[in-house]
Amino acid sequence: MHLDCIFCQIPKDRIVFENDLIYAIFDGFPVTKYHSLIIPKRHIKDFFDLSEDELLSANKILHQMKEHILSIDESVTGFNIGMNAGESAGQTVFHCHIHLIPRRDGDVENPRGGVRHTIPGKGSY
Ligand code: 5GP
Ligand code: ZN
Repeated sequence: MHLDCIFCQIPKDRIVFENDLIYAIFDGFPVTKYHSLIIPKRHIKDFFDLSEDELLSANKILHQMKEHILSIDESVTGFNIGMNAGESAGQTVFHCHIHLIPRRDGDVENPRGGVRHTIPGKGSY
C-alpha cells in the first residue's frame, strides 16, 4: 500500500468487481463510455510484474467486466484491451492496470488497426 498511489486507495464504493487479488473500476477519464481498469490489489508497477495467480484472477475479472458492460450497454460491439508499460509507452499511473475499452460500430471513422494506432500515423497498413 503506497500512500501516494491513487490505485492503492480507490474508495470501496468505486469497485465494480473484485476477488482476492484484483479489482475493477470505471476509468475516471474514460476514452469511451464504460472504459474500465482491471487492477491488482498489490502495488506493482506494470503488467510484467503480475504473478501467475494475479494473471488468472485478472483474466476472470476482465471477463466479468466485459460481460457486465455487454449486459448494460447493447451498443457495445467490440473491445480494446491494453496495458501501457513504462513512461515511454504512455503509462501515467505506475501501479499496474489493464485498460478494457468498449468499442461501438461507428465510434471512429476507420477503426481498422485498433491498438496499432498508439503510434500516430503507423496504425494502417
Ligand atoms: P495509464 O496512462 O497509466 O495507462 O492509465 C492511467 C489511467 O488512470 C487513465 O486512463 C486515467 O484516466 C485513469 N485515472 C487517473 N486518475 C484516476 C482516478 O482518480 N480515478 C479513476 N477511476 N481513474 C483514474
Ligand atoms: Zn499502488
